[in-house]
Amino acid sequence: MRDKLYIDGQWRAPAAGGTVEVINPSTEEVIHSIAAAGAEDVDAAVKAARRAFDDGSWSKLTGAERAKYLCAIAAGIRERQAEIARLEVIDNGKPFPEADWDVGDAAGCFDFYAGLAEELDAHPEEAIALPDARFTSKAVKEPIGVAGAIIPWNYPLLMAAWKVAPALAAGCTVVLKPAEVTSLTALELAHIADKAGLPAGVLNVLTGSGSVAGQAIIDHTDVDKLAFTGSTAVGSKIMATAARDIKRVSLELGGKSPFVVFEDADIGEAVEWIMFGIFWNQGQVCSATSRVLVQEGIYDRLLERRVAETRKIRIGDGLAEGTLLGPLVSKKQYDGVQAAVEKARTEGAKVLTGGGRAPGFNKGYYFEPTVIVDAPLDGETWNEEIFGPVVCVRPFSTEEEAVRLANDSRFGLAAAVMSKDDARAERVAAAFRAGIVWINCSQPTFTEAPWGGYKQSGIGRELGRWGLENYLETKQITRFASDNPWGWYIKD
Ligand code: NAD
Repeated sequence: MRDKLYIDGQWRAPAAGGTVEVINPSTEEVIHSIAAAGAEDVDAAVKAARRAFDDGSWSKLTGAERAKYLCAIAAGIRERQAEIARLEVIDNGKPFPEADWDVGDAAGCFDFYAGLAEELDAHPEEAIALPDARFTSKAVKEPIGVAGAIIPWNYPLLMAAWKVAPALAAGCTVVLKPAEVTSLTALELAHIADKAGLPAGVLNVLTGSGSVAGQAIIDHTDVDKLAFTGSTAVGSKIMATAARDIKRVSLELGGKSPFVVFEDADIGEAVEWIMFGIFWNQGQVCSATSRVLVQEGIYDRLLERRVAETRKIRIGDGLAEGTLLGPLVSKKQYDGVQAAVEKARTEGAKVLTGGGRAPGFNKGYYFEPTVIVDAPLDGETWNEEIFGPVVCVRPFSTEEEAVRLANDSRFGLAAAVMSKDDARAERVAAAFRAGIVWINCSQPTFTEAPWGGYKQSGIGRELGRWGLENYLETKQITRFASDNPWGWYIKD
């Protein structure tokens, strides 16, 4: 069924035909062919989602009833965890243990939002105190309606879960479009939801390109809410398009996140977290801490250790035992990362290690883990997202200078600080202009905690109870009850 679209509870061929080739980034071989949805297919999916929302068969269920489906989806993912993780590896390139972690996290996300769906029943309304005894008022939460979810390729199933789970928990219906280069596990999610008995039209999964299928979703007047993760350029376009119909939007975009390491930090621990902050998932992480600021006293020693450890990273096929760094997701991404490193060289930066195709790999989009120093503060290398295993390191002297350099960015997704001085770490954490701050680590992410960016890194928050709010409207219901008439126009 990988060449079909999941619309209204059925697997359908795209109305106008058309396919997209799926390439294993490790071998560059075509491994599948998926359907390319067109505007007609998107319209059918949105109509199905609209009907499923408007007839109340999903939106009017109790939270506990919806939770049962979410738990069944979580169980369905877990039942096939290893198989789905392997699919993620051949589609995306990431090492198997990371894929396995992601798939487990995706299941956990459905379980978590099942819990929040049940909580909606426990708190159906909030009484509002008013200054006029003739009125009583309450606030209730209701699902927004049809949600269009457009997701990237770096965490294919997990990004789907981050959007589909809270949307379904809230009572919304969904049209999901995965990234064209990594759609396989989103199709498996549709199978699992179908098997879980999710009513027809509640979840629709359409594969296809951003410019056709994605564009048709954002343009559709019957979509009430757009939830997007991806590049800032497309996010900006989505927000502009959404403005036309005042669609609700949540955007999770790019970053160039800083990691400030003070000289009281343990060098081994710092190097470990700096590496985790940029090499995990081949650096294709929106929150990757790609700008590392190291205090002068340990700068040289830390860099030396950093380069030595980086050279030891085992690069290989994601399914091979012991692989810690797989290929980049696509040729486009590989070429983009290579171009960014060339740009760094022309800007006068120095590549300490890495900088090109991983030695020994003639095939596959394998890029060496790369450490860059001396990138000019006003250049592209220091300021623009590279989205690959490429880190820029520079020294600083004072806390004030570190905070200023860290915050000097149009992005504000994440930031990290490492210091044995807790008061200083808290002070710096408070000073960061970013939506996600890590102290003494970088990247660990929990479904329970809010996720999203300041500045051009996005708008709104996913995960936790904030993620549920993304898919809810707030309605006030105010009642007039008095023995005396209102008496504005009619006095007697
Ligand atoms: P992208 O923003 O182009 O694609 C993300 C999703 O949006 C995909 O599903 C794509 O099909 C869809 N899309 C593209 N154009 C669209 C349009 N006009 N209307 C509706 N949907 C559209 O990202 P990309 O090209 O896959 O990656 C480019 C850059 O995006 C990366 O280098 C990185 O900087 C950034 N990125 C960020 C994240 C993140 O998690 N924040 C994830 C992946 C990529």
